[in-house]
Amino acid sequence: MTDADVMALDAADPLRGFRDDFCLPEGLIYLDGNSLGPLTVAGRARLALVVEQEWGQSLIRGWNDHDWFGAPLRVGDRIAELVGADPGEVIVADSTSANLYKLAVAAMQARPGRKVVLSEPGDFPTDLYMLEGAIRTLGDGRRLELRPSSGIESALSPDVAVLVLCHAHYKTSAIRDMKRLTAAAHAVGALVIWDLSHSVGVLEVDLNGCEADLAVGCGYKYLNGGPGAPAFLFVARRHQDSLVSPLSGWMGHAAPFRFEDRYSPAGGIARFACGTPPVLGVSALECGVELSVRAGMPAIRAKAAALTELFISIVEAGPAAGLLELATPRDALSRGGHVSFRHPDGYAIVQALIARNVIGDFRDPDILRFGFSPLPLSFAQSARAAHILGEVVSSGDYDHPDYRRRAAVT
Ligand SMILES: *Cc1c(COP(=O)(O)O)cnc(C)c1O
Repeated sequence: MTDADVMALDAADPLRGFRDDFCLPEGLIYLDGNSLGPLTVAGRARLALVVEQEWGQSLIRGWNDHDWFGAPLRVGDRIAELVGADPGEVIVADSTSANLYKLAVAAMQARPGRKVVLSEPGDFPTDLYMLEGAIRTLGDGRRLELRPSSGIESALSPDVAVLVLCHAHYKTSAIRDMKRLTAAAHAVGALVIWDLSHSVGVLEVDLNGCEADLAVGCGYKYLNGGPGAPAFLFVARRHQDSLVSPLSGWMGHAAPFRFEDRYSPAGGIARFACGTPPVLGVSALECGVELSVRAGMPAIRAKAAALTELFISIVEAGPAAGLLELATPRDALSRGGHVSFRHPDGYAIVQALIARNVIGDFRDPDILRFGFSPLPLSFAQSARAAHILGEVVSSGDYDHPDYRRRAAVT
């Protein structure tokens, strides 16, 4: 792959104009948009407007005058377009962790005789922690069973209330077959919750095409919603009136401003809201989501496949070839937007890369992870990062005490 080949990829990239929609420091190659998406130009302006005009001038009138009140459903409808859901099936609320809890309890209560929650070990731990908490809340002999992905289908039985899986794996980037696993769970009468945190905004997701029941996802990764952006949840229309959120807050009430003493759930997806929406966070998220809607998921997905392919091929043709082990599926359509390699000194290598202005991240015990957000990144950056990784690993330059010191957040 010559420099000219890489330039040709950028010249032919239909999404190249979107790079100007992000604020990124000059000279930095940011391969961590799967952990925290970069600031959007629109989000920066919008936050200033919401703070100075809407909050500053309108004050409490903003709930009506700027439709702060309608924002969770409005932005939810836009996210729905990205994940194959219909309007009214997605709401922006809370964190991914809290949303998983709400849906897990609601799903277990909808399958009262079944004692098992089935999931996979080794995926993003907050999901398993929240399932533990949900099971502790309901008690009654329920238990969490963990099976490696190859054993999920054989562990599905009439005792399974709900299957909880991540669509794309946070370490390996491997994609689970949403359609097949959903159908297998339905065949034994179980519900499925999909965590879309590592797929929304980078992969094509077709929730309704897969007859999905329930899903959650993250706002601050590929949706570029900002640090701690609110998350979202999906409930298929057919389940909305039979599932009830265990966090029955006033914003999910049928008539919140009647201030009644008794809880009565709203119709539709609104019942899965809990408290007052974080207006600043939803405003920034809306700007990130709009970019993905405008670019379109097929083009975004195609570019993610091409960026990751380029990166892997340059690393594997370079001086670090025998020193790094690819931990990500080789087939581009079987992986998400990030690429992981294994190396026993992974932490120090990632620190050495950061010192060279290439930001990726490290996941215990030995994973170097590089996220390829298709909208802010160019092919030239992907190629350059691969060359720098090759240099750092093959030279041993990472072997320095400064690069081994662990910070609180890795
Ligand atoms: C990022 C991520 C989360 C984030 O959860 P928070 O509640 O926002 O901290 C949850 N699940 C998965 C699979 C993730 O990748």
